[in-house]
Amino acid sequence: MGYSYGQNYRTGRWLLACDACGTIGGVRKRTCPYKVRTDSLRSKTRITLPWCPAPALCGPCYAKHGPAKVLHADCAKGAAADQARADATQALLDAGHKLVVSASMVGEGQVEVTFAANHYADHETLTMPEALYDKRRELGLKTLADYEFDGQRFYGGEGSTTTIVGTEEER
Ligand SMILES: [Zn+2]
Ligand SMILES: [Zn+2]
Repeated sequence: MGYSYGQNYRTGRWLLACDACGTIGGVRKRTCPYKVRTDSLRSKTRITLPWCPAPALCGPCYAKHGPAKVLHADCAKGAAADQARADATQALLDAGHKLVVSASMVGEGQVEVTFAANHYADHETLTMPEALYDKRRELGLKTLADYEFDGQRFYGGEGSTTTIVGTEEER
């Protein structure tokens, strides 16, 4: 969400505008009281963040729509769901699992998939046929172990990747 600003013509300064009535001056961002502690999949540590971007409201509009718990009443459910997801992801990371964090096409029908671990140094990248990747993704699989098959590990070690050659069936 972007914030709107209006210019005070007397001072020439740009000020935050109220999301509800457009007034400028005396407008504050009304931070969400529902917080989510993120998992550490994409960051070094877990971070606690307000669930929604804070709406900017002037005093009178805040008096009408507030207090924060009322203004953000609809956020409670979403925040709880996101927290449950983050905790589940964190539990997997803490248990030593590596989880899909990104995937990109590299060359003809090949996908490079990066698995994040709790420690960045332990991240692993695999290259695999697109069909194999799609199949696992459709199954909702996301751990490195889920992407292993035939009891073998398919990765090239530090700084390199090895193309996985799936079984005929998987290709
Ligand atoms: Zn207002
Ligand atoms: Zn909120």
